[in-house]
Amino acid sequence: MHLPDLVQADLPFLRALRQDLHAHPELGFEEERTSGIVASLLEEAGLAIHRGLGGTGVVGTLQCGDGKRAIGLRADMDALAMPETAERPYKSKMPGKMHACGHDGHTTLLLGAARYLARTRNFSGKVHFIFQPAEEGRGGAKKMVEDGLFGLFPCDAVYGLHNMPGLATDEMAVTAGPQLASSDTWTVTFNGIGTHGAKPHLGKDPITASGYFLTSLQTIVGRAVDPLQPAVVSACSIQAGDPRALNVIPDSVEIGGTARAYSDHVRDQLEREIERLARGVAVMFGIDVGYTFRRRIPPVVNHTTATERAAMAAQTVCGAKVVTNFPPSTAGDDFAFFAENAPGAYVWLGNGPAVDGALHHNTAYDFNDEAIETGVAFWVALVEQELRA
Ligand SMILES: [Zn+2]
Ligand SMILES: [Zn+2]
Repeated sequence: MHLPDLVQADLPFLRALRQDLHAHPELGFEEERTSGIVASLLEEAGLAIHRGLGGTGVVGTLQCGDGKRAIGLRADMDALAMPETAERPYKSKMPGKMHACGHDGHTTLLLGAARYLARTRNFSGKVHFIFQPAEEGRGGAKKMVEDGLFGLFPCDAVYGLHNMPGLATDEMAVTAGPQLASSDTWTVTFNGIGTHGAKPHLGKDPITASGYFLTSLQTIVGRAVDPLQPAVVSACSIQAGDPRALNVIPDSVEIGGTARAYSDHVRDQLEREIERLARGVAVMFGIDVGYTFRRRIPPVVNHTTATERAAMAAQTVCGAKVVTNFPPSTAGDDFAFFAENAPGAYVWLGNGPAVDGALHHNTAYDFNDEAIETGVAFWVALVEQELRA
């Protein structure tokens, strides 16, 4: 596609903006500088601004013509608490913080689209540009929804976009159905009776019980869940005892991990089955057990018609280079909370080759500025097509 000239003309500005955001990463709910830049650029472009949803969230609204339809476009603004190791002119100036997931790029793309559409106004209806805080596990989308996002800004459809290494920068992936998994956390605490390591018979050993629990944990996915339904259960943390006290059996063992699924049914099943195993092992060893399962993020399941519209916009921009059967990721994205309130589609934008250091959450990661044109043009095409003047 020949990109609109105004998008082309704005590219140097957008590239500089993206690199400035990269150099000044902020963690979830702390995006004061970033949201300030977003709000002032939207305001300068002539959009109506609302600030404060989810703390640092910003919504810019652009209305044209008498179209009744309203759509929401989401960008996330937060960075991660990790150091940036790669040397680049716009390397993070904030120690221990970095844009390792490319949200600096997402913010830039959506601002680019808002700037373009505010000048051309070639659509009829309402667009809500939603800049959310705290996507990286801190609950920004949920907070915006709880603060009344969809009461203030009702949407007939919502769209999210994420960069994806492994696709070229002029490539996109738009796929109906499951794209991201639910992301829940669980903890199991085995409470025994601590004793001398030489006299285990005088106590109740929670460490041996933990071993049985951990070896049986993978039977949930292997034996309990329908083999045609994807699911992940991982133990990611074990805390017990002290390496300086190798003759002491501790009182308790705390185990924690994550559970992922693409349907409510499997999500419920994982919650039940982890608990059943933990309680069963506790009975076997005559010890007590505590269990928590915390529902964090629902799965992102792309709605059929919203996905069709997103795919059409992607085809307008990328031609034949649109992947329509992109495999779901077992990662999560709290865009899911927006998609619970309106039919939603979540799309992937290529970020170039997936080589060492070029994968999400790596200390050398960087959003690829070559993808800015494609990303801005996608948002523009989506709005102009869905809200046709
Ligand atoms: Zn991330
Ligand atoms: Zn991300």
